[in-house]
Amino acid sequence: MTPLPVYERLTIVGCGLIGSSLARAVRQSGAAGHITVADASSAVRERVQALGLADTVTGDLGQAVSGADLVVFATPVLAIADAMAQAAPHLKAGATVSDVGSVKGSVAEALKASAPDGVFVIPGHPIAGTEQSGPDAGFAELFDNRWVILTPQITDDAPYAEAVARLASFWRAMGAQVELMDEKHHDLVLAVTSHLPHLIAYNIVGTAADLEEVTRAEVMKYSAGGFRDFTRIAASDPTMWRDIFVANREAVLEILGRFTEDLQALSRAIRWGEGEKLHELFSRTREIRRGVIAAGQESPEPNFGRDRGKH
Ligand code: NAP
Repeated sequence: MTPLPVYERLTIVGCGLIGSSLARAVRQSGAAGHITVADASSAVRERVQALGLADTVTGDLGQAVSGADLVVFATPVLAIADAMAQAAPHLKAGATVSDVGSVKGSVAEALKASAPDGVFVIPGHPIAGTEQSGPDAGFAELFDNRWVILTPQITDDAPYAEAVARLASFWRAMGAQVELMDEKHHDLVLAVTSHLPHLIAYNIVGTAADLEEVTRAEVMKYSAGGFRDFTRIAASDPTMWRDIFVANREAVLEILGRFTEDLQALSRAIRWGEGEKLHELFSRTREIRRGVIAAGQESPEPNFGRDRGKH
């Protein structure tokens, strides 16, 4: 066990759902001695103050990161590059810079491009979230028993390896399990498990909305389980998801190509009445659902009131 606090001074840049959950979890665990929050929005800063989530709250990024031992960017993905460029000249030697962005390849590149010598860049992604946003939506238990993927550089530099081990301990103090992964592999895996499902939900709900005129509001009125579940996913933050698809376009397009082929095969099976084929697929997918539950990646608390999706 690493002694607490793991870092003396932590700075969180962007204090929405994930940033504020991190601030709460850090407070609860004692994983950092001092928490600074920097957010571009004055309304968010006011809420962070009112909720008592940080020791220092500021809109000045340079001031926020100077002296920090760990800086975590928790803004939407496409805002990270600019924020890092602004923060970089103020980072102290020996600091670790990480993030929680849902895409890793392009974010890692942006972080590394601005990082001064002597700063450890270790990109990260907690596989935990909800369709809510903003500092009021966060909660300390968000990372409990969830995976956090770190995508460190491959190097035999001992101080860098130490920095990775320290960041992993920090996330474990938040109740998370940590996995190290290549950033390109991360982007492909997440394209399958998170990005494509969101794209499908956005598309289905959009199509149904377009058909509203034909169905005379029956889509909303008779909204059954399947569609209702898609509307929850399709209510996810538009800025966040715009950024994810733009930043992970290659992997998403690759997986989308495969998905489209499989959908064609399904539509052929339906056209030719190949019931056995359909039954075989639906049985296989049912097993996958059981596997997800067995892996503990379904909301454990029935009355928790929040669906802890994966983004
Ligand atoms: P969020 O609730 O919308 O919070 C983002 C916060 O960052 C907002 O307060 C936003 O202010 C602020 N911000 C934007 N640009 C900034 C800048 N340049 N400097 C400082 N603050 C800035 O978003 P979130 O859901 O927490 O997502 C944050 C990150 O976590 C994203 O990269 C996302 O991909 C990743 N992630 C999300 C989930 C999830 O389920 N939501 C899960 C895992 C990872 P404004 O409101 O004024 O724009």
